[in-house]
Amino acid sequence: MATVLAGDFGGTNLRAAIVNEAGELLVRVEDDTPQAATRDEIIGHVIDLLARTAAAAPEPPLAACIATAGLIDADRGVVVIAPNIPGFRNLPLTPPVAARLGIPVYIENDASAAALGEFRYGAGRGARNLLHATLGTGIGGGIVVEGHLYRGSQGLAGEIGHIILDPSGPVCNCGSRGCLEAMVSGVAFAERARVLVSSGKSLILREIVGARTATGADLFAAASAGDAIAEAEIRHGGHLLGLGIGSLVNVLNPDVVTLSGGLLSMGDMLLGPLRQAMYSLAYGPAAGTLVRISELAEDAGLLGAAAVAWERTEARAESRETGD
Ligand SMILES: [Zn+2]
Repeated sequence: MATVLAGDFGGTNLRAAIVNEAGELLVRVEDDTPQAATRDEIIGHVIDLLARTAAAAPEPPLAACIATAGLIDADRGVVVIAPNIPGFRNLPLTPPVAARLGIPVYIENDASAAALGEFRYGAGRGARNLLHATLGTGIGGGIVVEGHLYRGSQGLAGEIGHIILDPSGPVCNCGSRGCLEAMVSGVAFAERARVLVSSGKSLILREIVGARTATGADLFAAASAGDAIAEAEIRHGGHLLGLGIGSLVNVLNPDVVTLSGGLLSMGDMLLGPLRQAMYSLAYGPAAGTLVRISELAEDAGLLGAAAVAWERTEARAESRETGD
């Protein structure tokens, strides 16, 4: 059976799997991401995990893809900036992995990979054009156009967390002010929760948090327990997400918007205002755009990487046929 090797390389976990064309995980291996390790130690760890997984496959996989956070120049196999791993800057990651595994190796931004994973195996099956948004600690995204992942000229495409919603808003990691990610994300909600606790305006939140540092989950817990200010914060966040995503829908005109990430646990408190804002600014046929929640759960990263490995493998086969 033909398979590919998928790697999902996150800040806390390293996952790898052998995946067939139908998106079934035949082998699955998981490890902790080494902390306080050098750049070369981390690369060595990733290579060992992938090699171990490949060795457990029924037959050698056709190709491998590693999905990871950050700015990835996928066509050159280079990690340009990895925010979670300090030593990873302008790092050609695929050559050492390919040398060890002896198969073509690709790398992809995790949110872009997730978009292709939803398109092939998840909530975006049957779509032609798809916009995916990852709503978690940060805000990411990916774009599928006519069935293929759209990467842009340097791999930047899909960075939906950095559209500007308020030029005088909070400073973002990217250096701009008022980016979607700086206004509403796991990190932004945690910041709002801390402000609410120190202002003394939300007694329920203050009781939930106690002596700890407040998190976004605390904000949601307070809202669920009836705290009107916490609920208003979350609803406002959903509204802003809807403005950002809705603007992109007007530009891209996808069949479907798929959503994944930890913020979805806030349910309708976040998603209601998100949908309302998105549809309120829909231009013409954009009002018919579907919004669907990811069905891939914790395997989303692996299936995204697998989807990219399959797409790359198909493209290679096509270019061999046409002699390009
Ligand atoms: Zn930004």
